[in-house]
Amino acid sequence: MAPRSTEPPHGAHTPLVDRFGRVHTDLRVSLTDRCNLRCTYCMPAEGLNWLPKAEVLGDDEVVRLVRIAVRRLGIRSLRLTGGEPLLRRGLPGLIARLTELGPEISLTTNGIGLARTAHDLKAAGLHRVNVSLDTLRPERYAAITRRDRIADVLAGLAAARAAGLAPVKVNAVPVRGVNDDEILDLVEFAAEHGYRMRFIESMPLDAQGAWDRSKMITADELLEILAQRWELHPVGRHGNAPAEEWRIAGTDTVVGVIASVTRPFCGGCDRVRLTADGQLRNCLFATEESDLRELLRGGADDARIEAAWRNTIARKGPGHDINSADFVQPDRPMSAIGG
Ligand code: SAM
Ligand code: SF4
Repeated sequence: MAPRSTEPPHGAHTPLVDRFGRVHTDLRVSLTDRCNLRCTYCMPAEGLNWLPKAEVLGDDEVVRLVRIAVRRLGIRSLRLTGGEPLLRRGLPGLIARLTELGPEISLTTNGIGLARTAHDLKAAGLHRVNVSLDTLRPERYAAITRRDRIADVLAGLAAARAAGLAPVKVNAVPVRGVNDDEILDLVEFAAEHGYRMRFIESMPLDAQGAWDRSKMITADELLEILAQRWELHPVGRHGNAPAEEWRIAGTDTVVGVIASVTRPFCGGCDRVRLTADGQLRNCLFATEESDLRELLRGGADDARIEAAWRNTIARKGPGHDINSADFVQPDRPMSAIGG
């Protein structure tokens, strides 16, 4: 059993603040680097060298780190991701344990297996899901993800809605010449089914290093496409949320755009990330990490882990350099960081 030290009284934590005054309250936890899809903008057809099981944090380790994050560092929201987080065995049990710690918990998933698990996840305390779906056309889905699974995703979305994992958000990465002709269709599909559509600019975080800026559909282009059919009213941003939102006039349909590349939101970033193998990252694009797993397994007490966490945040830079000539793509791809 790892040594413990006394926790501060409930609510008495010192905020997790960086040199620029950004207070970090959102923790993204990757539960596995493995995936059952092979999205072309994310990883190669053959997959990646998955982490050996022994290197992946176990449930007790995840729970301990989240406890430290919530009780000592003031983390209030938790997003579980991957790889594909639904591949994690015993996920409802882990979520139930995390729920007891008090943060709001959401999940980013490709939706495969969600039809089977949505009810249990909700019962365990999960609040919301984001489901990735880049196209409504089965053949195109199979081409983008290299797996013929669109029916599972659509069933997963419906099950999430039925289970009350609301709002159910649909994430799509529009890529020029691949699915950019479906932007309006995706919005209509989401509106029809009571989901909330969000488009994410493609980022240089693929494992192959093949990101091509000219293939990215920018936020400006997206808004132009939407404006061809609808009048849009800005809803703005919720707190530090990465998505800028627009409401379609005369409806309650809201569309979100996450423009990480062309409209970076680093100035309001409140996120910190934990990889499946226990490495803490202060940015999606960070090129360095802090090894919390080593501390955990080496018997460090909570105060020492808290200090390592605060040091990592203290080293956080002002923002990413995607748009600079000096940009260096991190060694870990998105799927191994936790998107
Ligand atoms: N497997 C889950 C999924 O697909 O939702 C969770 C992990 S995935 C890495 C998280 C999100 O990152 C997905 O919405 C996916 O579309 C997005 N993503 C993956 N690679 C990306 C890239 N190169 N640029 C932008 N978004 C990307
Ligand atoms: Fe898997 Fe998500 Fe990457 Fe697609 S985007 S390959 S579903 S991790």
